[in-house]
Amino acid sequence: MIAKTQAIVAREPTEPLKPNWAMEEVTLGGFGDDEMLVDMIATGICHTDIVLSSVPAGAIGIAYPKIVGHEGAGIVREIGKNVKTVQPGDPILLSFYSCRTCEQCRTEHPAYCDQFAKGNYIGRQDTMETASDSQPVWSQFFGQSSFAQTTVASEASVVNVKNLIKNLDELKLLAPLGCGFQTGMGAIQNIGLATPNDVVLITGLGAVGMGAIMTAKILKCKSIIAVDRVKSRLEIAKSLGATHIIDTSDSAFTTLYEAVRRLIPLGASVAIETTGVPTIIEQSVQATTPRGRFIQIGVPPLQYELSVNLTQHINVS
Ligand SMILES: [Zn+2]
Ligand SMILES: [Zn+2]
Repeated sequence: MIAKTQAIVAREPTEPLKPNWAMEEVTLGGFGDDEMLVDMIATGICHTDIVLSSVPAGAIGIAYPKIVGHEGAGIVREIGKNVKTVQPGDPILLSFYSCRTCEQCRTEHPAYCDQFAKGNYIGRQDTMETASDSQPVWSQFFGQSSFAQTTVASEASVVNVKNLIKNLDELKLLAPLGCGFQTGMGAIQNIGLATPNDVVLITGLGAVGMGAIMTAKILKCKSIIAVDRVKSRLEIAKSLGATHIIDTSDSAFTTLYEAVRRLIPLGASVAIETTGVPTIIEQSVQATTPRGRFIQIGVPPLQYELSVNLTQHINVS
């Protein structure tokens, strides 16, 4: 099977930390027995798409040219012979890749798959090439490379929503479930183990942060503190259930630690950090109560190392 399609191809950045994306024609050369061809209807965009196409070639195994995108929603066109969960014509949502055979996958923790970095951040180089200069393209980013009009997806990344959605507009609306919303929800519920007794701190109000706010509201957490520097996001957070907001762009803002303690003197018992900004990460750790849970989701700068004053951390009151 050889087919041509359009995709946003990420070439190696020519300016530091700036993605070098352009719409290009690419050739699809085929797909494996556990894979399928998908016509993309919509895709979300996530900070990870930008970070992993902003780093120089060679860093953490990253190579170019490649196609990113990992919140795809589409219609199955053709399936490999081992694919069992979908048929051609089925609407699907796409999420991260997992190998389905390692210890983590077999014990139902696919997000901690041994192959996670290789299968999601790097992908494969054997199914697509650029039409202009016939270069092999790294694809199957998160098992899907959703920034292509037609793409090859791994069955491990697919959720069949044939019995869930009523029309294509709903399919488009649900695309960000594949990363942003499920990450926010899973962080609060499965890792944060939040209950009505918890004070939840959520830094950064993209899809992950908003997913966390909505879940904290569903779980009836007693306080939900939303942090961002964009006023319109803070307003949306309030409408979704945030009980307190902290605007880091406010002239009265000093540190996150102080702002949290001013609202809730004991601090937060569950902290979900989605900004990846070093000072916000460190102050979120500091603003977490003894026996609290701090969960890092935002991708920090590549060379960043977390610094914690352990004496203060142990003796925090
Ligand atoms: Zn993502
Ligand atoms: Zn695995």
